[in-house]
Amino acid sequence: MSKQKLGINTICTHVGEIKDEQFKGAVSPIYLATSYEFDNVDVKRYPRYFNTPNQEYLAKKIAALEHTEAAMIFGSGMAAISHMFLAFLKQGDHIVVQNTLYGGTSNFIREEFHKYGIEYTFTNGYNVTDFETAIQPNTKVIHIETPSNPLLTITDIKAVADLARSKGIISTIDNTFASPVNQNPIDFGIDIVMHSATKYLGGHSDILAGAVASSQEHMDRIWNVSKNLGGSLSDMTVWMLERSMKTLALRVKAQNKNARKLAKFLDAHSEVSRVYYPGLKSHPEHKLAKAQMHDFGAMLSFELVEGIDAMAFMKQLELIKSSMSLAGVESTMLLPSETSHALLTQEQRDAVGISNRLIRFSVGIENFKDLKQDIEQAITATKVASLA
Ligand SMILES: *Cc1c(COP(=O)(O)O)cnc(C)c1O
Repeated sequence: MSKQKLGINTICTHVGEIKDEQFKGAVSPIYLATSYEFDNVDVKRYPRYFNTPNQEYLAKKIAALEHTEAAMIFGSGMAAISHMFLAFLKQGDHIVVQNTLYGGTSNFIREEFHKYGIEYTFTNGYNVTDFETAIQPNTKVIHIETPSNPLLTITDIKAVADLARSKGIISTIDNTFASPVNQNPIDFGIDIVMHSATKYLGGHSDILAGAVASSQEHMDRIWNVSKNLGGSLSDMTVWMLERSMKTLALRVKAQNKNARKLAKFLDAHSEVSRVYYPGLKSHPEHKLAKAQMHDFGAMLSFELVEGIDAMAFMKQLELIKSSMSLAGVESTMLLPSETSHALLTQEQRDAVGISNRLIRFSVGIENFKDLKQDIEQAITATKVASLA
């Protein structure tokens, strides 16, 4: 069977299974050995070489989902990002990164790169011209994130990939928010895709992991650096991640559908002043999102009208949890002004469009009517409490 022809649910369920030859069990065995024979073997295996049986086989599933030749699994999303960057950047090199970036990535660049003598520029915006003007003669990597956190802006993947390629620059993308179910950046010319597998790939809020997918040539370069940095994932967790990923497409499609309905519901609500969701026709990059995504994802943000305190609203929620993270099967919300953007001043937050009223919503798989009801009752309860 040719892997390219398999449907996404079949890839999730079967690609990268390890056959249980000994007992004929239905699922991949877990190989916990940290010690393998060195003689008479095809592969010299060691966990920090990212090549234990479970790591090697799960990588096949991720590569199939992202349409690449190769993939590697890491101990966290940040391990994936840091190992990937350090594979392509050395002293004197320069990287262009999108201005709206996951906080951990942004901190890694700002706090660590000067120690390596690596230069960087954060773009002024997310249009291709913003990337073009930031390029220097020593630029080696361009890194994007779309849809962005928390305002769901959309960067033109193909335009940035074309720009990078025309200048011999490696293009990388953080595909965490979309997941491979909703977006395959390799098809638009991006060189390397990374994920925080802690989010949708894991999907149950109980796994810390990361992944990178690319051509074998790029992966060889990443492997050469990663074996020295050592950010691989324990095989117990690799196995759990494989188990979780069998339902990846089922989960994400259910989450997409809920998010689409909730975005419409919130958009029409008299107590909601603004909704940020690329699936809404009113989203400034709706057409672009439609062109480069299979579906619009399950992350959205919204603001309640002035007079309804966002924190008070969140405390009234009964079903939807407050969470620092995202992408689990359970619906969660957070306030960027209290979490990811808490260290910025009010003016800095205003400059990037993040008000104290902004609520980021990671939509889960619960029934739409129950999520809607929870939001409705929390709005009413908040209004009643503020009048008392
Ligand atoms: C969570 C996250 C990361 C970092 O992943 P960890 O698994 O927490 O290390 C990177 N990028 C995005 C978009 C994320 O949401």
